[in-house]
Amino acid sequence: MSASALPESPTNATYVEPSAETILTPGLKIGDLLRRNMTEPYVLQRLSQRSWWVQSFNYGTVFFVGERGALIFDTLEGVYDNIVKAVAAVTDKPISAAVYPHYHADHIGDIAKYVDAAKKRGFDLEIIASSKTRQSMDLANSSFPRPTKELKWPRDSFQFEGLTVELHGFEWAAHSDDHSAWLLREERIIHSPDLINPDQPPFWRFAGNERFRFHEDNLKQVYGLEWDYLSGSHGNIGSRADIDFQLAFTPI
Ligand SMILES: [Zn+2]
Repeated sequence: MSASALPESPTNATYVEPSAETILTPGLKIGDLLRRNMTEPYVLQRLSQRSWWVQSFNYGTVFFVGERGALIFDTLEGVYDNIVKAVAAVTDKPISAAVYPHYHADHIGDIAKYVDAAKKRGFDLEIIASSKTRQSMDLANSSFPRPTKELKWPRDSFQFEGLTVELHGFEWAAHSDDHSAWLLREERIIHSPDLINPDQPPFWRFAGNERFRFHEDNLKQVYGLEWDYLSGSHGNIGSRADIDFQLAFTPI
């Protein structure tokens, strides 16, 4: 334990200062992340030429900047102002599309603000989600707007300004019925909020597993895809070492 009493990394990670300009070397992590989350409006890290990871008060997502607009994954609840500030720090393009990665309110709750902002700029926000998420929203009587573009469950994809985004739904999911991973294919980034909290103790807050039985299968499904960066929304920027560490604690 260091003098600042920071917990040690479970994966012996190497930490760096966050940078909105310099692309992160795969496997490295953001240093002092917990303190940054509690004291700074947002933490922003570039992952590729056109993609960034952003976190605000321990809730994070990724976004991709195209020629005309930006695509954001998660319209996180309660941190809209910070997230749009982070996006505006790297582009003057409007956020033109958003993904509901799964239907839980903490990951989609600020959607109305994104819809309004788009309207003010004269267009309708595109909202992309799986058919399973739409179904889950209907069952839960969700008050949030339904997706404008629905993807086939459990596998489908869409294009956003030259980027291919693949939906990899977990047919038997641990976290929620519609839980899924989203692969930004050309960027080699996988985003699966609440699958795993990289660089945190295993099962801390459980990354909320409704059905723990399938957690291991879901981790292995993501492990098998082609990516260099793992975004779990919570925790640090992840790599396969984080999944290895988590799998060491699963029962089988
Ligand atoms: Zn969730």
